[in-house]
Amino acid sequence: MVDCIFCKIRDGAIGADVIHTDAEALAFRDLNPQAPLHALIIPRRHIASLNDLTTEDNALVGHLFQVAQSLARSAGYAESGYRTVFNTGPHAGQSVHHIHLHVLAGRHLGWPPG
Ligand code: 5GP
Ligand code: ZN
Repeated sequence: MVDCIFCKIRDGAIGADVIHTDAEALAFRDLNPQAPLHALIIPRRHIASLNDLTTEDNALVGHLFQVAQSLARSAGYAESGYRTVFNTGPHAGQSVHHIHLHVLAGRHLGWPPG
């Protein structure tokens, strides 16, 4: 999609610290990290938000979580713990409208979130 920053990262038009790529998804480090590990996992296909997922995307969503597990394990956080978050809509603070799974780890993450 034109003017989508994450589509531009996918296409290499904007740089990012990409830490995983495969046929369906890619992951890169957040520009403004909130934890020692803060990665964003996106599907290659432009999907605006969780509201736009259908049952046909079930395998894709499962895959995003498999990538999250793999990134957390590779970085050494499988046992200490990590958080996976989809922000959806204004009250959740979604600022980029290409669905992305945040993976945060490496510090104690407060709960409830702000
Ligand atoms: P949201 O607030 O939509 O859940 O998360 C969007 C995230 O994307 C934010 O954490 C923000 O720091 C990150 N972000 C925004 N623009 C860029 C960018 O150009 N590159 C990277 N790597 N991260 C970005
Ligand atoms: Zn996009």
